[in-house]
Amino acid sequence: MLVSLIVPCYNEEEALPFLYNALCDVRKEVTDHKFEFIFVNDGSRDKTSAVIKGFAAEDPDVKYIIFSRNFGKEAAMYAGLEKASGDLVAIMDADMQDPPSLIPSMIRTIEADEADIVASRRVTREGEPKIRSFFARLFYKLINSMVEVEIADGARDFRLMKRQVVDAILDLNERQRFSKGIFAWVGFRTKWIEYVNTERVAGETKWSFWKLFKYAIDGIVSFTTAPLRLATYLGFGFAGLGFFYLVYYFIRAIILRIYNEVPGYPSLLCFILFIGGLTLMSLGILGEYIGRTFIEVKRRPLYIKAEESKE
Ligand code: UDP
Ligand code: MG
Repeated sequence: MLVSLIVPCYNEEEALPFLYNALCDVRKEVTDHKFEFIFVNDGSRDKTSAVIKGFAAEDPDVKYIIFSRNFGKEAAMYAGLEKASGDLVAIMDADMQDPPSLIPSMIRTIEADEADIVASRRVTREGEPKIRSFFARLFYKLINSMVEVEIADGARDFRLMKRQVVDAILDLNERQRFSKGIFAWVGFRTKWIEYVNTERVAGETKWSFWKLFKYAIDGIVSFTTAPLRLATYLGFGFAGLGFFYLVYYFIRAIILRIYNEVPGYPSLLCFILFIGGLTLMSLGILGEYIGRTFIEVKRRPLYIKAEESKE
């Protein structure tokens, strides 16, 4: 059987030699399978391309795709999955945060037919800013209350999958990819392995808080239309409230004969501001979905290749 290991890389010149060594160790350990290592250079600004080509020059199992610019990890993973021809396919980070040493046991798990996917999940969020962990947890609560499939908290993109699963993932060829959702959505039997978060070997994380925040919105909007419904509910709610208010004043005027009370300016202002805010929020939600539809209908490619290893 052929096992493909896909590594998306963005400015990873320092980490890659460590990773490559570790991958070679895996290849030495698992002697009953063939391997291919697919490095996807996602528009790095450092010498990542040269490093990868260096590996490829000496090792026929190394394949690569070089993007014309930075298209994001999601696009890099997709490109790798498209190029992979293995019966088993794994995705892993370049920074050794996804321990390559787990791969042999992941392969055995699938071979023993215990699962179609072996996925990983970190059990602690140590080494991460507290505020980030807090928002991450909040995000998972929020998205899981809206989405029909369970999106696991702490799930990493590090996973080994059968060919069948890879084909299913490639079939979902939407432009705005949210892999955590896509992986959950395709289903299949998943076995979770848990491990403790480790620091990256070299370089630094490419995720800023703001990038993560946008990613969270992408995740929600591409997997559920629940926010749209929220706008509808709020609309109904406030229209109902307005109606009761109207009835209330009407009765006061007809029965109690109270006509003109001048006080009430603060409450009026509050209402105007509040309703105005809600209207804008609903428009914003609507805009998110329309914007997404706009991007999807253009059907632009997910990435552009500048170079690629042969076959
Ligand atoms: N990555 C990528 N394109 C990007 C950002 C990141 O291919 O635009 C790769 C990166 O090289 C690494 C993986 O995605 O192999 C995870 O990135 P990082 O370690 O920065 O994320 P973290 O581990 O902090 O979640
Ligand atoms: Mg990392």
